[in-house]
Amino acid sequence: LSMPVITIDGPSGSGKGTVCRLLAEKLGWDVLDSGAIYRVLSLAALHHQIELDNEDALVPLAANLDVQFLVDSQTHTSKIVLEGEDVTTTIRNEEVGAAASKIAALPRVREALLRRQRAFRTESGLIADGRDMGTVVFPDAPLKIYLTASAEERARRRFAELNERGLDVTLSGLLEDIKARDHRDMTREVAPLVPAEDAIELDTSELNAMQVFDKVVTLLDEAV
Ligand code: C5P
Repeated sequence: LSMPVITIDGPSGSGKGTVCRLLAEKLGWDVLDSGAIYRVLSLAALHHQIELDNEDALVPLAANLDVQFLVDSQTHTSKIVLEGEDVTTTIRNEEVGAAASKIAALPRVREALLRRQRAFRTESGLIADGRDMGTVVFPDAPLKIYLTASAEERARRRFAELNERGLDVTLSGLLEDIKARDHRDMTREVAPLVPAEDAIELDTSELNAMQVFDKVVTLLDEAV
């Protein structure tokens, strides 16, 4: 099996990031955090004072985006560098997430990012984390997982995570953000957030990260 790939799609807070990291660790494969690409692009737009709906200006920005993912082989996390600046933490804030989801609705912007995402697939194997990994970017993936969780549970997880990092957020505010982002991601015309026809759906509302990981490993064993 050359260039193996597993896709893990789902809304934010469904637990994709953690599962992808644990899987990468177990298998020794690379990770594509496609959401980070959309986040970095929205930050670049901000830097260059390009409006988030200016598709004509965003397409060349996307095609020529000067971004590096510097992988730490120990932790399987990346340092993300945009135009020479470390933006690893900056891209994680809610404003950047919301901006990313606006940009992500533009068809030609998505098109411009396709090749960059596919280039992450190498002989080493890839875990692809996103919204359309199984439907659009890697439709031939032999294992596709679709993670879900209730909006309330996802807001609680996000709240705990941001609180721990000392950020001043409210649970109700996060729930609103999550619902708005879900709506935008699920109803857009191009590559909306939907499970691929051949994806296996997993509701993680009642599961912790290790339990989700164990389930995915079982599915992987069954798939190969
Ligand atoms: O996963 P993350 O929250 O980092 O993604 C930020 C935004 O980027 C999402 O809300 C979504 O709109 C967009 N995105 C996308 N397709 C992907 C990954 C992310 O449209 N494959």
